[in-house]
Amino acid sequence: MRILLQFPEGLKQKASEYAKELEKEGNEVFISASPTFGACDLALDEMRNIKADKLVHFGHAEFHHVDANVEYIPYYIDAPTALLPESLDILKAYNTISLITTIQHIHQLEAIKRFYEDNGKKVIIGKPYGFAKHPGQVLGCDIGSAANVDKQVDAHVYFGGGMFHPLGALLNTSKPFFVIEPFENKIENVDKYREIYRKRSRGKIMRALNARSIGILVSTKNGQHNMGLANIIKDKARKAGMDAQVLVANTFDFMSLNNMLQFDAFVNTACPRISIDDTDRTRAPLLSANELMEVLRMKAEMVALHGKR
Ligand code: SF4
Repeated sequence: MRILLQFPEGLKQKASEYAKELEKEGNEVFISASPTFGACDLALDEMRNIKADKLVHFGHAEFHHVDANVEYIPYYIDAPTALLPESLDILKAYNTISLITTIQHIHQLEAIKRFYEDNGKKVIIGKPYGFAKHPGQVLGCDIGSAANVDKQVDAHVYFGGGMFHPLGALLNTSKPFFVIEPFENKIENVDKYREIYRKRSRGKIMRALNARSIGILVSTKNGQHNMGLANIIKDKARKAGMDAQVLVANTFDFMSLNNMLQFDAFVNTACPRISIDDTDRTRAPLLSANELMEVLRMKAEMVALHGKR
């Protein structure tokens, strides 16, 4: 069988090991060297181009069904739980907590839940919106496991490495939010980032108010492609008197975007995190669709008040 292996960045160094195993079984094996951001980003074009019979995607659960022979191999990591007793003191004011993590630690969630319950907490594990597959699991673009239970809990607790995953959940919830970082051995209340990101978003909207032309980002990645939304945005922007063009890429290169000097703002329809995490990388404001709608609303208000665009 002709097999293409695809690994996320953090696991790419393990690719040869797996390739050799599969070769021993008589397979012809190739390794995707493209950047990989998630199961939203399957190497389907590469698979077709090299006529692979199967794509083996490591480290992520299925994002959505695709019409191709794809095998998903999860990669679980046992993170140290030594910080849990210390977290009890920090969480003492909150009786009911939600618990979230990433796919890498999802197998530990039940034990962590039991620990808190044994120590008198009520723990609610929410369900994701659908791209994430397990209760309590969050993705950068699926924070349902926290947002769906926001009203029922006194605080949210994220267990896992880094700020990428908790940030999305933080920005879409309202309760005190704690990150237990087992690899850096720290527990942090991250509520302050809500205001920082709200101000950043407001700043982008204000900067885009004078934009006369926008470039709308459409990714060809299987789980990020949203031409329907791009067409709605284009239509609304043009009706508001703006020039609007759709820009297509697999992975957006910010240097290339910055070379498109004709655009005064960019609007993202690809991975929703691009317009949150990458806003410092473009010379013009990089807006989400909702932020553009706010720009158009404010522009319409200004036209109503001052009578010109
Ligand atoms: S956050 Fe972005 S990169 Fe991650 S799974 Fe969602 S769409 Fe893909």
